[in-house]
Amino acid sequence: MTEAAEQLRATGRVAEARWCPSPNFGERPAGSAVSLLVVHSISLPPGHYGGPWIEQFFCNQLNPGEHPYFASIASLQVSSHLLIRRDGELVQFVNLLKRAWHAGRSCFAGQEECNDYSIGIELEGTDTAPYTRVQYQALAHVSALIIRAWPAIEADRITGHSDIAPGRKTDPGPAFDWSRYRRLLAEIDNAGPHAVTGSQ
Ligand SMILES: [Zn+2]
Repeated sequence: MTEAAEQLRATGRVAEARWCPSPNFGERPAGSAVSLLVVHSISLPPGHYGGPWIEQFFCNQLNPGEHPYFASIASLQVSSHLLIRRDGELVQFVNLLKRAWHAGRSCFAGQEECNDYSIGIELEGTDTAPYTRVQYQALAHVSALIIRAWPAIEADRITGHSDIAPGRKTDPGPAFDWSRYRRLLAEIDNAGPHAVTGSQ
């Protein structure tokens, strides 16, 4: 394991991410090893980028009066471990060693409660508009680092929210190019462990 991956596994904190702590997390149940990566998307209000509202939402600070949509979600207590903004900026809300509240009712390969054993990464975006080049790069980079830290996350254990909560969730949607993401991941992998330094 590389030094950056060892550090990540020990601290649960992505070194280059801006830390924006959310209160919405708990302990992972004893014996539930991190073995799944879940890709999500979110934008607040839907389709609008760049505002402070995703961070406010994950920190229970969204003002329900600020937008009609916010009134319907402001009371929810949710979080993800990481968010990748349109410009590639990485924000961390929950320590990766902890259980973030990103997946909700969910099931992967017969195993329910994905929050217990997964890491959730949100992309700022919508199901239908293309994600940005720097978002793919940042996602591939941080994914590679996470996979080195938790090798139980094998290639077929990287999934989308829509796949673990079908009929209930649609993100990251048809706009997310899985083959592009997997190609970038493979390139980093082929470049060897020293390509994953934890920097962008
Ligand atoms: Zn989601």
